[in-house]
Amino acid sequence: MDFDAIILGSGAGGGIAAYQLASRGWNVLLIERGSFVNDGNASRPVSSGLDQQSYLVNGSYRKLTVGYGLGGGTEVYGAVLMRPHEVDFTPGRHYPNLLPKAEWDWPVSFGEMRPYYEQVENLFGITPFQTQTELPVGQAAPINEHLHRAWKCNGIASGILPLAIQRKSCLDCADCPGFLCPNGSRLGTQHLIERAIRSHELKVWSGFQVLQISKKGENVLLQNVRTSEQQTVKARILVVSLGAMQSPALFLRSGWEDSSGLLGRRYMYHAGGVVAGCFLNQTQAGEMFVKQLGSDQFYLGSPQSNNEKWGVIQSLPTPRLLPSFIRNRTYLMMATVEDMPQACNRITIDRNGNPVLQHRFHSFDLKRSKDAVRTLKRLLRMGGAFSTIGLTADRNKTHVGHQVGTMCFGENSKTSVLDPYCRPHGTERMFVLDGSFMPTSLGVGPALTIMANALRVTDWICKQYEK
Ligand SMILES: Cc1cc2nc3c(=O)[nH]c(=O)nc-3n(C[C@H](O)[C@H](O)[C@H](O)COP(=O)(O)OP(=O)(O)OC[C@H]3O[C@@H](n4cnc5c(N)ncnc54)[C@H](O)[C@@H]3O)c2cc1C
Ligand code: SF4
Repeated sequence: MDFDAIILGSGAGGGIAAYQLASRGWNVLLIERGSFVNDGNASRPVSSGLDQQSYLVNGSYRKLTVGYGLGGGTEVYGAVLMRPHEVDFTPGRHYPNLLPKAEWDWPVSFGEMRPYYEQVENLFGITPFQTQTELPVGQAAPINEHLHRAWKCNGIASGILPLAIQRKSCLDCADCPGFLCPNGSRLGTQHLIERAIRSHELKVWSGFQVLQISKKGENVLLQNVRTSEQQTVKARILVVSLGAMQSPALFLRSGWEDSSGLLGRRYMYHAGGVVAGCFLNQTQAGEMFVKQLGSDQFYLGSPQSNNEKWGVIQSLPTPRLLPSFIRNRTYLMMATVEDMPQACNRITIDRNGNPVLQHRFHSFDLKRSKDAVRTLKRLLRMGGAFSTIGLTADRNKTHVGHQVGTMCFGENSKTSVLDPYCRPHGTERMFVLDGSFMPTSLGVGPALTIMANALRVTDWICKQYEK
């Protein structure tokens, strides 16, 4: 069978690349290890849509919170599609003496990415985040209206997050996200893949594990997950998009030679901080969807934190394990803290070719995570919390949902793995379009940027190569 392009992995990057190439008339094959996930089956176990394999992380085996199935991470994600700040593309300016320029320089600017952010926002029916003087009537849970007012009185601006959720059909589940949406209200890339299957030349092979690729990416070795049968497919254009852990692992087990020595290195996943506030009055966080409120007031730091850059802050759902009496008197917030790209944080492979992760946050990440936790506590007390409990970044090594880095792009083959169009340096027709390409982790969730970058590169592929 001949295809114009083969896409490996159907998450944020792969799903968008497949949609875009197919809608431009390309004959595309999309390969995914999992299956169709968002089929409206409300009785699935909570774990479906998440990878159930355990991986070696800092010497012990753990399950990691990453997507598995058509749509990848975007079928279980929080659907907050935030644009990064312009300075996220030159973040080292905020870390004087800590990061050499070669490690933080993005080879594209915010201005070059802007049209692609707009296109993704249109596909998902959202508008960019803005702080609001008044929240739109009927859109926010009462606790969010209360916090918005309390913060406003204290000079802190907030607004409704840009959520790729169809409000009309949304069931207002209190613990969303982290599991498959029961009725498809939460939009990931699967809805675009389904659209491209119906109206364009997109073929999907689900239930196929990608084992290896050849040196120039023209041959791909696959294994049928059910029968263990192996087969090879041939690609004219190959897009690798298995996520920031699995893509470098694929290149490593394929014996890839990388002149920068950075393949698999600089794994990042945000040094967040999480705080739970306890309230005397009901927050209703155990009964309704409260993950709606965000603020970019501390994006570039605050005077209390020496103006050291972190990122956006936002509300979170309360864990479903807690009794409802407690959930309904609790409210959770998190801060996204951009973590440092450190070469020692890396993916290698074990003798079976499975990824192995070694990771430690930089002391500067932990310092900012502590600052962020202190600030979140202050914000929750402003809103009436009588007690607060905070967790800094080093307390959870399994929620790596925001994983990026590991195959960073750049102009120079000595300091980056991919070129500015996300091809491994020295290759012609092979592209890596998942979160691996990012040289730094941004102050927002990565999904919108991964999708916008996939649109930018596939747009270029369409112009460059005749199908
Ligand atoms: C619980 C949770 C909440 C999140 N919330 C947000 C949010 O609100 N906002 C935000 O911006 N980001 C969020 N994220 C992160 C976001 O989902 C990811 O950044 C994004 O999906 C990553 O895209 P990707 O293309 O790099 O990889 P993925 O989306 O992970 O896609 C990789 C795909 O490749 C497949 N695959 C892997 N290995 C193989 C193989 N060997 N063979 C075949 N297929 C393979 C996987 O099954 C998967 O489908 C969240 C993530 C999680 C887990
Ligand atoms: S809250 Fe809405 S988007 Fe989230 S799982 Fe429930 S129905 Fe889906």
